[in-house]
Amino acid sequence: MGTLFVVDIDGTLIKGSGGPSSNALIDCVRTLYGVEGPINVETVGRTDKSIFAQIIEMYGGSLEELEKTYLRALELYWARSPNTLLPGAREFLIKAQEIGHRLSLGTGNMEPAARLKLEYHQLNCFFPVGGFGEVSKDRAEVVRRAIQEAKRHYEQEFATIWVVGDAPPDIEAAKANGVKAAIVSTGWYTHEQLLKYEPDLLCPDLNSLGEVVFQSV
Ligand SMILES: [Mg+2]
Repeated sequence: MGTLFVVDIDGTLIKGSGGPSSNALIDCVRTLYGVEGPINVETVGRTDKSIFAQIIEMYGGSLEELEKTYLRALELYWARSPNTLLPGAREFLIKAQEIGHRLSLGTGNMEPAARLKLEYHQLNCFFPVGGFGEVSKDRAEVVRRAIQEAKRHYEQEFATIWVVGDAPPDIEAAKANGVKAAIVSTGWYTHEQLLKYEPDLLCPDLNSLGEVVFQSV
């Protein structure tokens, strides 16, 4: 029985706040509904399914059309100004793999959006499977899927499972699944804010998280 890391993307592996995703969403709402941004929708830590449901509630339209338009806009904005990799991200994944730990994605991004962002930084090779933002409005369900898919793909059970993320929903999703939360404060939330949600581990970035977690697991 090994260890599994269910890893978030925005704010954890790749710089998350603002940038291409937000611009794509604003562009998408302008194109579909003629509404000028910024739009009053919280996105940090939420799944795309949940964000899109709120937009449809506000402006109407179909989910399929919204997803398609968003992905097209994201491709454009990402190509123009991709978000940078966060400190220690690649090293964390390499080290985890070297030790023989398993990796699965647990992200609010729809799979095509997740793959687009990871592709640019050549990180897709670390994640044969995952749970993605189209699975559910509830991040706990996304994490549940990430774990299920990992068990199926790697054909094993796990003694220890960590959710690696940057936001309160990551911590809540870990608790809901009865697994541990290893959190970095490289996203929107500060160390003090995240502490209130009582993660099992809280570090400034993936460099320091790696130092702790690869010793203790
Ligand atoms: Mg995040």
